[in-house]
Amino acid sequence: MLRIEDALDIILAHTPTATNNKEEVPLADALGRVLRQDIISDLDLPPFDRARMDGYAVRSVDVATARPDQPAQLKEIGEAVAGQAFSGFVGVGEAVRIMTGAPVPAGADSVQKIEVISVNNGVVELYEPTRPNQNITPRGIEAKAGNLMLQAGAVISPAAAAVLASFGYAMVEVSVRPRLVLLSTGSELVEVWEKPSAAQIRNSNTFSLAGYAQAAGAEVLSAGVVRDDFNETKLAIAEAAAIADVVMLSGGVSMGDYDLVKPALKELGAEILVEKVAMHPGKPTVFAKLGETLIFGLPGNPVSVAVSFHIFARPALLKMQGVTELHLPRVFAHTATAVKGAPPRRSHQPARLVIRNGRAEVEPLKWAGSSDVVAFMQADTLIVVPEDRKGYEAGELVEAVLLK
Ligand code: AMP
Ligand code: MG
Repeated sequence: MLRIEDALDIILAHTPTATNNKEEVPLADALGRVLRQDIISDLDLPPFDRARMDGYAVRSVDVATARPDQPAQLKEIGEAVAGQAFSGFVGVGEAVRIMTGAPVPAGADSVQKIEVISVNNGVVELYEPTRPNQNITPRGIEAKAGNLMLQAGAVISPAAAAVLASFGYAMVEVSVRPRLVLLSTGSELVEVWEKPSAAQIRNSNTFSLAGYAQAAGAEVLSAGVVRDDFNETKLAIAEAAAIADVVMLSGGVSMGDYDLVKPALKELGAEILVEKVAMHPGKPTVFAKLGETLIFGLPGNPVSVAVSFHIFARPALLKMQGVTELHLPRVFAHTATAVKGAPPRRSHQPARLVIRNGRAEVEPLKWAGSSDVVAFMQADTLIVVPEDRKGYEAGELVEAVLLK
């Protein structure tokens, strides 16, 4: 039985790093993709001293003594609106009407908001003074032209897309998506539109795994259900491996008579590199290589499949795309109730992160075990119980992996 870290080391050592597999896509299609070029700013941001308020651009020395009962009086000489600058100069005793987002005209050093100003016949009365730079976002404070904004290997989030847009990246170099074929094994499985008979269940893993794999950047093809038949399993794996970078199977990797994934892989000449990991759930996780294709044989139970995917398959898919940060974030929080461990295996208990009495807690889900899709739907974290611990008492500080 391999430790989780050792299994992951083996998997990542056999996972190719993105090299030539890049393509250029329009920014609108780049969301969630992996950046393959560094992003450099082509201009200062903001590109000019910019008004943060609607009001008047003034010289702070002219209005230093302004008070409600003794307003400063200035002469209105023009206006600056977003998209159109005022081209003149603000001299002694002068003010320019200005809108949020407009460039602050030369000569002015501050903007006073319209709420403390009244205007009559071109005379601007300010009831409050300004400080220099008040209500101005200075040119270049967010970024200077030529700065490194984002490095290759970052996943393009919506916020990152806004940065790329600001610096003119209409086309973006990203990694080609790894092609992944999903196979769900099990003679008990029926399709989602069918009514299962007494000993059958609906295939649900295809849908969770497709979602997880897509979120990790893969292009997912589902080849559906494979019955627990040796030849059928072998053929399905061979056909999938011929067209995929990654074949992901669920089920058929335990110790039962009809667990045929490993025997089929062996017969196909695959190199089996991981076949048992000291974890709970997820112990029978299989990783193999068939030619250049990576094969993940994930355990069949819906929760085991999800845990094993996040710990092993997700980092491999990210590595294939050149992602810098392969691992899910972890947090420390107090557990709301006791958690059982599974020594000598490391345990991952599905849980929910909640705020109770002003502190972060993880609340272990009440679940019927690793088949419980209904309970797992509520999980956003996995509490990690180390291999040498029988468990935790309520209130103890624990480590948890964030799933979202
Ligand atoms: P296995 O690893 O094939 O022994 O499967 C373990 C458990 O997971 C069994 O109870 C299976 O019925 C269940 N299971 C396997 N594959 C799926 C699937 N695609 N969707 C839902 N449950 C599954
Ligand atoms: Mg099975």
